Amino acid sequence: MPCISEMEFEGIPRSHPRYLSLVLRERVVEGFRRGVVVAEGLIAHGRGECFDYLLGEETREFAVEAMRAAVAALLLAKHPVLSVNGNTAALAGKAVVELAEATGALIEVNLFYRTEERARRIGELLRACGAREVLGVDDATARIPGLEHPRGMTSPRGIYSADVVLVALEDGDRTMALRRMGKKVIAIDLNPLSRTARTADITIVDNVVRALPLMAKMAREMKGLSKEELEDILERYDNNRVLAEALEYIAGRLQELSGGKLVLEP
Ligand code: ATP
Ligand code: MG
Repeated sequence: MPCISEMEFEGIPRSHPRYLSLVLRERVVEGFRRGVVVAEGLIAHGRGECFDYLLGEETREFAVEAMRAAVAALLLAKHPVLSVNGNTAALAGKAVVELAEATGALIEVNLFYRTEERARRIGELLRACGAREVLGVDDATARIPGLEHPRGMTSPRGIYSADVVLVALEDGDRTMALRRMGKKVIAIDLNPLSRTARTADITIVDNVVRALPLMAKMAREMKGLSKEELEDILERYDNNRVLAEALEYIAGRLQELSGGKLVLEP
Protein backbone atom coordinates (compact mmCIF):
# COMPACT_ATOMS: atom_id res chain seq x y z
CA MET A 1 0.00 0.00 0.00
CA PRO A 2 1.54 3.33 -1.05
CA CYS A 3 2.20 6.40 1.10
CA ILE A 4 -1.09 8.34 0.74
CA SER A 5 0.51 11.81 0.74
CA GLU A 6 2.53 10.80 -2.33
CA MET A 7 -0.37 9.34 -4.31
CA GLU A 8 -1.78 10.85 -7.50
CA PHE A 9 -5.57 11.08 -7.72
CA GLU A 10 -6.61 10.75 -11.31
CA GLY A 11 -10.26 11.68 -10.92
CA ILE A 12 -9.42 15.32 -10.14
CA PRO A 13 -8.75 17.71 -13.05
CA ARG A 14 -5.46 19.59 -12.50
CA SER A 15 -7.02 22.69 -13.99
CA HIS A 16 -9.64 22.89 -11.25
CA PRO A 17 -9.23 26.15 -9.29
CA ARG A 18 -9.49 24.22 -6.02
CA TYR A 19 -7.32 21.31 -7.15
CA LEU A 20 -5.16 21.13 -4.02
CA SER A 21 -8.13 21.29 -1.67
CA LEU A 22 -9.78 18.44 -3.61
CA VAL A 23 -6.59 16.37 -3.49
CA LEU A 24 -6.44 16.81 0.29
CA ARG A 25 -10.02 15.55 0.57
CA GLU A 26 -9.06 12.51 -1.50
CA ARG A 27 -6.15 11.79 0.83
CA VAL A 28 -8.42 11.86 3.87
CA VAL A 29 -11.04 9.71 2.10
CA GLU A 30 -8.33 7.23 1.02
CA GLY A 31 -7.23 7.14 4.68
CA PHE A 32 -10.84 6.44 5.67
CA ARG A 33 -11.07 3.58 3.15
CA ARG A 34 -7.88 2.04 4.53
CA GLY A 35 -9.08 2.21 8.13
CA VAL A 36 -6.51 4.89 8.99
CA VAL A 37 -8.94 7.83 9.38
CA VAL A 38 -12.13 7.54 11.47
CA ALA A 39 -15.49 9.03 10.46
CA GLU A 40 -14.97 11.75 13.09
CA GLY A 41 -11.73 12.60 11.30
CA LEU A 42 -13.70 13.52 8.19
CA ILE A 43 -15.63 16.07 10.26
CA ALA A 44 -12.42 17.45 11.77
CA HIS A 45 -11.03 17.89 8.25
CA GLY A 46 -14.08 19.94 7.28
CA ARG A 47 -13.58 22.23 10.25
CA GLY A 48 -9.95 22.67 9.25
CA GLU A 49 -10.95 23.52 5.66
CA CYS A 50 -13.22 26.25 6.97
CA PHE A 51 -10.43 27.94 8.94
CA ASP A 52 -8.03 27.49 6.04
CA TYR A 53 -10.47 29.37 3.80
CA LEU A 54 -10.41 32.22 6.32
CA LEU A 55 -6.60 32.28 6.16
CA GLY A 56 -6.65 32.34 2.36
CA GLU A 57 -5.06 28.84 2.30
CA GLU A 58 -1.54 30.21 2.64
CA THR A 59 1.12 30.11 5.33
CA ARG A 60 1.16 33.49 7.05
CA GLU A 61 3.96 35.28 8.89
CA PHE A 62 2.61 34.45 12.37
CA ALA A 63 2.75 30.75 11.44
CA VAL A 64 6.31 31.05 10.15
CA GLU A 65 7.34 32.67 13.43
CA ALA A 66 5.73 29.85 15.43
CA MET A 67 7.41 27.26 13.19
CA ARG A 68 10.84 28.78 13.85
CA ALA A 69 10.24 28.58 17.60
CA ALA A 70 8.88 25.04 17.25
CA VAL A 71 11.90 23.86 15.27
CA ALA A 72 14.21 25.50 17.82
CA ALA A 73 12.36 23.63 20.59
CA LEU A 74 12.60 20.32 18.72
CA LEU A 75 16.33 20.79 18.03
CA LEU A 76 17.03 21.74 21.67
CA ALA A 77 14.92 18.88 23.10
CA LYS A 78 16.50 15.85 24.75
CA HIS A 79 13.62 13.61 23.76
CA PRO A 80 11.34 15.11 21.09
CA VAL A 81 8.35 13.13 19.80
CA LEU A 82 5.99 13.77 16.88
CA SER A 83 2.51 12.55 17.78
CA VAL A 84 0.65 11.35 14.69
CA ASN A 85 -3.04 10.57 14.24
CA GLY A 86 -4.94 9.18 11.23
CA ASN A 87 -5.63 12.51 9.50
CA THR A 88 -2.03 13.68 9.80
CA ALA A 89 -0.68 10.35 8.54
CA ALA A 90 -3.00 10.45 5.52
CA LEU A 91 -2.48 14.14 4.71
CA ALA A 92 1.23 14.52 5.38
CA GLY A 93 2.83 11.17 6.24
CA LYS A 94 5.89 11.84 4.12
CA ALA A 95 6.51 15.25 5.72
CA VAL A 96 6.19 13.75 9.22
CA VAL A 97 9.03 11.37 8.36
CA GLU A 98 11.12 14.23 6.91
CA LEU A 99 10.65 16.37 10.03
CA ALA A 100 11.53 13.44 12.30
CA GLU A 101 14.72 12.84 10.35
CA ALA A 102 15.70 16.50 10.32
CA THR A 103 15.21 16.97 14.08
CA GLY A 104 16.02 13.53 15.48
CA ALA A 105 12.47 13.25 16.85
CA LEU A 106 10.72 9.91 17.30
CA ILE A 107 7.36 9.22 15.67
CA GLU A 108 4.47 7.89 17.74
CA VAL A 109 0.96 6.94 16.70
CA ASN A 110 -1.39 8.55 19.21
CA LEU A 111 -5.12 8.22 18.70
CA PHE A 112 -8.16 9.80 20.29
CA TYR A 113 -10.34 6.93 19.02
CA ARG A 114 -7.73 4.28 19.66
CA THR A 115 -8.08 0.71 18.48
CA GLU A 116 -5.09 -1.59 18.14
CA GLU A 117 -6.05 -2.37 14.55
CA ARG A 118 -6.09 1.29 13.50
CA ALA A 119 -2.82 2.02 15.31
CA ARG A 120 -1.26 -0.88 13.37
CA ARG A 121 -2.58 0.44 10.05
CA ILE A 122 -1.23 3.93 10.71
CA GLY A 123 2.13 2.41 11.62
CA GLU A 124 2.11 0.56 8.28
CA LEU A 125 1.19 3.72 6.40
CA LEU A 126 3.99 5.72 8.04
CA ARG A 127 6.48 2.99 7.17
CA ALA A 128 5.26 3.16 3.56
CA CYS A 129 6.10 6.89 3.78
CA GLY A 130 9.66 6.02 4.85
CA ALA A 131 9.52 5.81 8.66
CA ARG A 132 12.01 3.35 10.11
CA GLU A 133 10.49 3.14 13.57
CA VAL A 134 6.96 3.96 14.69
CA LEU A 135 6.14 3.92 18.39
CA GLY A 136 2.68 3.58 19.91
CA VAL A 137 1.61 0.64 17.77
CA ASP A 138 2.20 -2.34 20.04
CA ASP A 139 3.85 -0.57 22.98
CA ALA A 140 1.18 1.90 24.15
CA THR A 141 1.32 0.73 27.75
CA ALA A 142 1.83 3.99 29.73
CA ARG A 143 -1.14 6.12 30.64
CA ILE A 144 -1.14 9.94 30.61
CA PRO A 145 -2.34 10.82 34.13
CA GLY A 146 -5.95 12.01 34.20
CA LEU A 147 -6.92 10.64 30.79
CA GLU A 148 -9.24 7.68 31.08
CA HIS A 149 -10.03 5.36 28.16
CA PRO A 150 -7.69 4.17 25.41
CA ARG A 151 -7.06 7.79 24.31
CA GLY A 152 -4.73 8.16 27.29
CA MET A 153 -2.32 5.38 26.31
CA THR A 154 1.19 6.22 25.11
CA SER A 155 4.52 4.54 24.54
CA PRO A 156 6.88 4.62 27.58
CA ARG A 157 9.73 5.27 25.13
CA GLY A 158 7.78 7.95 23.26
CA ILE A 159 5.29 10.59 24.37
CA TYR A 160 5.23 9.34 27.96
CA SER A 161 8.89 10.20 28.54
CA ALA A 162 9.23 13.02 25.96
CA ASP A 163 10.21 16.57 26.93
CA VAL A 164 8.84 18.16 23.73
CA VAL A 165 5.78 16.81 21.90
CA LEU A 166 4.43 18.03 18.57
CA VAL A 167 0.71 17.37 18.09
CA ALA A 168 -1.52 18.07 15.10
CA LEU A 169 -5.31 18.08 14.95
CA GLU A 170 -5.19 17.33 18.65
CA ASP A 171 -7.91 17.34 21.26
CA GLY A 172 -7.76 20.17 23.80
CA ASP A 173 -8.17 17.87 26.77
CA ARG A 174 -5.18 15.76 25.80
CA THR A 175 -3.08 18.85 25.10
CA MET A 176 -3.87 20.08 28.61
CA ALA A 177 -2.95 16.69 30.11
CA LEU A 178 0.45 16.73 28.32
CA ARG A 179 1.13 20.23 29.64
CA ARG A 180 0.26 19.05 33.16
CA MET A 181 2.90 16.35 32.79
CA GLY A 182 5.39 19.19 32.32
CA LYS A 183 5.94 18.70 28.61
CA LYS A 184 6.47 21.48 26.11
CA VAL A 185 3.67 21.14 23.56
CA ILE A 186 3.81 22.34 19.97
CA ALA A 187 0.44 22.30 18.17
CA ILE A 188 -0.39 22.62 14.50
CA ASP A 189 -4.02 23.71 14.36
CA LEU A 190 -5.86 25.80 11.77
CA ASN A 191 -8.30 27.01 14.41
CA PRO A 192 -6.67 29.71 16.55
CA LEU A 193 -9.63 29.51 18.94
CA SER A 194 -9.50 25.79 19.71
CA ARG A 195 -8.57 24.67 23.21
CA THR A 196 -5.53 22.96 21.73
CA ALA A 197 -4.36 26.19 20.06
CA ARG A 198 -4.83 28.14 23.29
CA THR A 199 -3.25 25.53 25.56
CA ALA A 200 -0.09 24.69 23.63
CA ASP A 201 3.24 26.41 24.33
CA ILE A 202 3.75 27.04 20.63
CA THR A 203 0.79 27.14 18.22
CA ILE A 204 1.28 26.97 14.48
CA VAL A 205 -1.95 28.23 12.88
CA ASP A 206 -1.51 26.58 9.51
CA ASN A 207 -2.42 23.44 7.57
CA VAL A 208 -0.28 20.38 8.42
CA VAL A 209 0.16 19.91 4.69
CA ARG A 210 2.04 23.22 4.40
CA ALA A 211 3.55 23.42 7.90
CA LEU A 212 5.27 20.03 8.19
CA PRO A 213 7.36 20.19 4.97
CA LEU A 214 8.34 23.79 5.70
CA MET A 215 9.39 22.85 9.24
CA ALA A 216 11.52 19.99 7.88
CA LYS A 217 13.26 22.45 5.56
CA MET A 218 13.75 24.95 8.41
CA ALA A 219 15.15 22.21 10.65
CA ARG A 220 17.79 21.30 8.06
CA GLU A 221 18.79 24.98 7.86
CA MET A 222 18.64 25.72 11.61
CA LYS A 223 20.76 22.69 12.54
CA GLY A 224 23.78 24.94 11.96
CA LEU A 225 22.72 27.37 14.73
CA SER A 226 24.35 27.26 18.16
CA LYS A 227 22.49 26.23 21.30
CA GLU A 228 22.49 29.89 22.41
CA GLU A 229 20.99 31.06 19.12
CA LEU A 230 18.22 28.45 19.34
CA GLU A 231 17.52 29.36 22.98
CA ASP A 232 17.34 33.00 21.97
CA ILE A 233 14.65 32.24 19.35
CA LEU A 234 12.63 30.39 22.00
CA GLU A 235 13.01 33.08 24.65
CA ARG A 236 11.75 35.79 22.34
CA TYR A 237 8.72 33.80 21.29
CA ASP A 238 5.31 34.87 22.65
CA ASN A 239 2.45 32.48 21.85
CA ASN A 240 -0.22 34.87 23.08
CA ARG A 241 0.94 37.52 20.61
CA VAL A 242 1.13 34.98 17.75
CA LEU A 243 -2.44 33.79 18.43
CA ALA A 244 -3.61 37.42 18.56
CA GLU A 245 -1.91 38.08 15.22
CA ALA A 246 -3.67 35.08 13.67
CA LEU A 247 -7.06 36.43 14.79
CA GLU A 248 -6.17 39.95 13.69
CA TYR A 249 -5.15 38.62 10.31
CA ILE A 250 -8.46 36.79 9.83
CA ALA A 251 -10.47 39.80 11.04
CA GLY A 252 -8.53 42.16 8.77
CA ARG A 253 -8.87 39.90 5.77
CA LEU A 254 -12.63 39.60 6.24
CA GLN A 255 -12.94 43.35 6.62
CA GLU A 256 -10.95 43.90 3.44
CA LEU A 257 -12.98 41.34 1.50
CA SER A 258 -16.30 42.69 2.72
CA GLY A 259 -15.29 46.14 1.52
CA GLY A 260 -14.56 44.91 -2.00
CA LYS A 261 -16.44 43.27 -4.82
CA LEU A 262 -17.53 39.82 -3.69
CA VAL A 263 -19.34 38.52 -6.78
CA LEU A 264 -17.12 36.41 -9.05
CA GLU A 265 -17.43 36.90 -12.81
CA PRO A 266 -18.48 33.78 -14.74
P1 ATP B 1 -10.14 21.42 20.79
O1 ATP B 1 -10.48 20.13 21.44
O2 ATP B 1 -8.68 21.69 20.74
O3 ATP B 1 -10.92 22.61 21.29
P2 ATP B 1 -11.90 20.95 18.59
O4 ATP B 1 -12.73 20.13 19.52
O5 ATP B 1 -12.44 22.22 18.02
O6 ATP B 1 -10.50 21.28 19.24
P3 ATP B 1 -10.98 18.58 17.35
O7 ATP B 1 -11.91 17.79 16.52
O8 ATP B 1 -10.66 18.14 18.72
O9 ATP B 1 -11.48 20.09 17.35
O10 ATP B 1 -9.60 18.76 16.56
C1 ATP B 1 -9.54 19.06 15.21
C2 ATP B 1 -8.78 20.36 15.03
O11 ATP B 1 -7.88 20.20 13.95
C3 ATP B 1 -9.70 21.52 14.64
O12 ATP B 1 -9.40 22.65 15.42
C4 ATP B 1 -9.39 21.81 13.17
O13 ATP B 1 -9.44 23.17 12.86
C5 ATP B 1 -7.96 21.31 13.05
N1 ATP B 1 -7.59 20.82 11.71
C6 ATP B 1 -8.32 20.06 10.86
N2 ATP B 1 -7.66 19.79 9.73
C7 ATP B 1 -6.43 20.37 9.85
C8 ATP B 1 -5.29 20.44 9.01
N3 ATP B 1 -5.25 19.85 7.83
N4 ATP B 1 -4.21 21.12 9.47
C9 ATP B 1 -4.23 21.72 10.69
N5 ATP B 1 -5.28 21.69 11.53
C10 ATP B 1 -6.38 21.03 11.13
MG1 MG C 1 -11.77 18.57 20.81
